[in-house]
Amino acid sequence: MLSISLIAAFPELVEHALDYGVTGRARRQGLWRWQGFALHDFATDARKSIDARPAAGGPGMVLMPVPLDAALAAARQWHGEKSCVVFMSPDGAPLEQARIREFAQNTHITFVAGRYEGIDQRWIDANADAIVSVGDYVLSGGELAAAVVIDSCVRLLPGALGDAESATFESFADGKLDWPQYALTASGAEQIPAELAKGDHATVNRWRIKQALIRTWMRRPDLLARANLSLEEIAMLDEFTEIGLK
Ligand code: SAM
Repeated sequence: MLSISLIAAFPELVEHALDYGVTGRARRQGLWRWQGFALHDFATDARKSIDARPAAGGPGMVLMPVPLDAALAAARQWHGEKSCVVFMSPDGAPLEQARIREFAQNTHITFVAGRYEGIDQRWIDANADAIVSVGDYVLSGGELAAAVVIDSCVRLLPGALGDAESATFESFADGKLDWPQYALTASGAEQIPAELAKGDHATVNRWRIKQALIRTWMRRPDLLARANLSLEEIAMLDEFTEIGLK
């Protein structure tokens, strides 16, 4: 079972977000468990302070080490062993599916969410095993960023998805984006592409791979540059780039 804890000002934000769909069902199935540690519960003064003014001045507030230390000790006790401590921060390594697969191999992970101007650097240096960003933009807190990572890890756990093949044929699984999806329904003014209507497995498969290649070429050429394409895939892409979208 994957054990995940979150140290944050508002851990209930994540609890609520992950209680639905795949992640909620996986938790009820016992594939993962979760515990939030609210920083205010570990404050040492009567005002329940978790932040202080930045040293040497400047705008905003910084989360203080002492409540973080106490929350991490409580999280370690809950895990029963050392967990991988992941600090969510815009200055971390940008998140990619390959990294998510690595995270999902862990059995104990503690996510740490910042607020305000962030977390005291001494605490990060002493405790963070990884620093992860969900993209080049700034959120008001790390809770939703942690929810993104947790969701994407949990859906990779064996048994979490209704059909395990979903995680094999999806964007980033093999360096390409997903192919276009069409619902099997009689309604809809537009016809589905003729290749899908034929019902021939080889034709459908070829069409899907080609569409995935075209979509990646048009939207994410950076992915294609790194992808390990087969000779057949290179030929499909050439068909498109030489003749255009059919
Ligand atoms: N002063 C920080 C900076 O300029 O890099 C921004 C702090 S942000 C307002 C507060 C917290 O939100 C951060 O400590 C982090 O935990 C979280 N956060 C914001 N943007 C994020 C991102 N792109 N990825 C991961 N966490 C993020």
